[in-house]
Amino acid sequence: MPKPFASSADLGDKQQTLEVLADGVYALTAEGDPNVGAIEGEDFLVCFEALATPVAAGEWLTRLRQHTGKPVRYLVLSHYHAVRVLGASAFDAEVIVAHDNTRRLVAERGKQDWESELGRMPRLFKEPESIPGLTWPTATFSDRFTIDLGGGRGEVVLRYCGRGHTEGDIIAWLPQQKILYGGDLVEAQAALYTGDAFHREWASGTLDAVAALGAETLVGGRGAVAYGRDAVDAAIDQTRHFLRVMMREVRAVQERGGTLKEAFEAVHGELEPRYGRWPIFEHCLPFNVSRLWDELSGIDRPYIWTAERDRQVWDQLQG
Ligand SMILES: [Zn+2]
Repeated sequence: MPKPFASSADLGDKQQTLEVLADGVYALTAEGDPNVGAIEGEDFLVCFEALATPVAAGEWLTRLRQHTGKPVRYLVLSHYHAVRVLGASAFDAEVIVAHDNTRRLVAERGKQDWESELGRMPRLFKEPESIPGLTWPTATFSDRFTIDLGGGRGEVVLRYCGRGHTEGDIIAWLPQQKILYGGDLVEAQAALYTGDAFHREWASGTLDAVAALGAETLVGGRGAVAYGRDAVDAAIDQTRHFLRVMMREVRAVQERGGTLKEAFEAVHGELEPRYGRWPIFEHCLPFNVSRLWDELSGIDRPYIWTAERDRQVWDQLQG
C-alpha cells in the first residue's frame, strides 16, 4: 500500500493550547501543527506568525482577545512558508515585519509555495478562499530589528541568525524575560522540514547563534513549549542531531556512488527509531532528502517546489 501523499490524509483536528509564558507573553501550540505567539506592549501587540488562512488566524485572535484587546501594531513573519504567512490579513497589523530575503522569496516562489503547501497539508488551510493573495512584508531588515514594548515591558529583538530552515528565517527574542520564539529554526519534539533549507549552515553557525542567546523558554515552530534551560538545550540539540544524521547518511551514499532513493532509505532507517512517531516525520522526509542531496551536490539555492514536483519526489521516494 503506498503511503497517502504528504499529510493529505491527516484530517483530524489538533488540540490547541494557549499558554501564558510571562506577563503579557503568549503562545498557542497545537500538537505539532504550526505554533504562533503574541507579546503585549504598553498599548499594542506584537504577533508572531500568521497561520495559513485568515479564518485560522481569526480563531487564534479570538482566543487571544480573552486576554487582551490591544491592537496589533506588528505582525512578525519568521519566514515565507504559506502556513506561516497567508493568514496575515486577519491581524489588521500596522506593520508586517520579515527579513529582506523573505520578501525576495515571496516574490520569487510565494505562489508556487502556496499551491505546494495547500496540497501537502490541506487541513491547515481552513477556508482557503478567505486568503486575499500573497502576504507582502511592509518592513524588512537584514540583521536586527528592535521593538520597544514600553511601560517597563522590555523589548522584542528580531534577529537574523544565518541561513537555516529557509534563506530568511528570523527569531523573536525577549531578553528581559529570556523567552525565544524560534520559528522553524528549532523544533521541540516535532520533525524538521528541510525542503528549502541550508543544512550545513543551519546545523553549525545558525544554531550556534540561537543557542548563544541563552533562552530559558522556547516556542519552537511546532511542538510543545520548552520550559527551562535543559528543555531549551534539548530542543536545539534535537534539531542539530536530526540535521547531522541526515547529512552524514546522504554524504555517505553520495560518496559510494549510490542513488537518491538509497539516501532516502538510509536517512529513514537512521532517524525513524528516534523521530518516526513525531509530527510530520513521514511527510517531510522525501522533500528533506531531495533538497539535501542537491545541496551536497553543490546546488546552493533550493529548487522551487511546485504541486507537480512534490508528487514526483513523493512517488519516487515514499510511494
Ligand atoms: Zn517553514
